Amino acid sequence: MTMEHGEDCCVKVAVHARPLIGDEKLQGCKDCVTVVPGKPQVQIGTHSFTFDHVYGSSGTPSTAMFDECVAPLVEGLFQGYNATVLAYGQTGSGKTYTMGTACKEGTHVGIIPRAMAALFDKIEKLKNQVDFQLRVSFIEILKEEVRDLLDPATVTAGKVENGNGHTGKLSVPGKPPVQIREGSNGVITLSGSTEVHVTTQKEMTTCLEQGSLSRATGSTNMNNQSSHAIFTITLEQMRKADPIMASDGMPIEEMNDDYLCAKLHLVDLAGSERAKRTGSDGLRFKEGVHINRGLLALGNVISALGDEKKRKEGAHVPYRDSKLTRLLQDSLGGNSKTVMIACISPADINAEETLNTLKYANRARNIQNKPIVSLSSLASLETYQTCTYTFFIKLISFSP
Ligand code: ADP
Ligand code: MG
Repeated sequence: MTMEHGEDCCVKVAVHARPLIGDEKLQGCKDCVTVVPGKPQVQIGTHSFTFDHVYGSSGTPSTAMFDECVAPLVEGLFQGYNATVLAYGQTGSGKTYTMGTACKEGTHVGIIPRAMAALFDKIEKLKNQVDFQLRVSFIEILKEEVRDLLDPATVTAGKVENGNGHTGKLSVPGKPPVQIREGSNGVITLSGSTEVHVTTQKEMTTCLEQGSLSRATGSTNMNNQSSHAIFTITLEQMRKADPIMASDGMPIEEMNDDYLCAKLHLVDLAGSERAKRTGSDGLRFKEGVHINRGLLALGNVISALGDEKKRKEGAHVPYRDSKLTRLLQDSLGGNSKTVMIACISPADINAEETLNTLKYANRARNIQNKPIVSLSSLASLETYQTCTYTFFIKLISFSP
């Protein structure tokens, strides 16, 4: 497998339309999203958008999503390629369901558990020839602050006090905040956050579950919707000095170097709904501003990366505009692959947010084969950004 530019662009965008859920059915909501059968095309009102894939509704069944969008990224890790999967969409659109971040036992298997299974399958096949080291971290970004979801103190507190309403909220006095550092080689590291060495799928699943618990209980409901959760798997490989044949008897062609290291970021983004929904007190407004900062920066980064012409001209990629993009910097662009999954609700009451999500996702995809369309959409995009910034400045000036 090779990573090439052009057709095989570094940013792929898929849409995942969930069905109407209980509450929406009770309210008598209508399905206002149409997927064109046999085409990765979504229609809402008079708008029509084309993506790399569309899952759910009358599109491709969701079960194909992992194989088409994520399995190639897991494969790429073994060749040393970093990758990122991002779930974007308004609160309630299915981001956590799609990623499998909540990891409720016995329910639907999301992307993260399936990625883990694929990873360990492959390791099992290659373990006679290659030594593997696996590490995981799980953090959330809330109000431009990084929280360690695998902090042993938090995780232990979560276990002991589970059920009393204060779980996971303990912060260790004097513990320095988690900081993002960039090494001279451009590798981004987190200082002050927990990296857990794991050797089995079970251990990795435990990290996901404990971190999810810490996210769910450590924040208010509102925070939970407005934080970005990032589960990161780091895979290190060292070729064995005297390799024994792989268990299937096949030689490994995949590994060209003796040592490789690659990261897979699995991101459950904050709800993309606009600040108006976050309430009227100053604090909530401030939160809205910060969340949007991450999502806004992400949109700009992905769009800059997706525009091959700009990239060749060495255009500025605004990674430093938010903690989110800074943290994902070495896995967005370059030789790494990025998949964004835009989650949408089909319900008519959500039509406005669904349209916003489709517009954002479409921009991330950055159509290259129609330069005129791109140019005009770029112009309107700039107008949009200017409007958004102005809006934010107004909100800030109203804050206490
Ligand atoms: P988000 O994380 O975007 O806020 P959730 O993943 O929590 O949204 O989903 C909201 C609700 O919709 C949950 O009850 C979830 O079980 C349900 N849901 C989401 N996606 C699907 C789907 N593809 N099929 C069935 N139910 C879904
Ligand atoms: Mg969620």
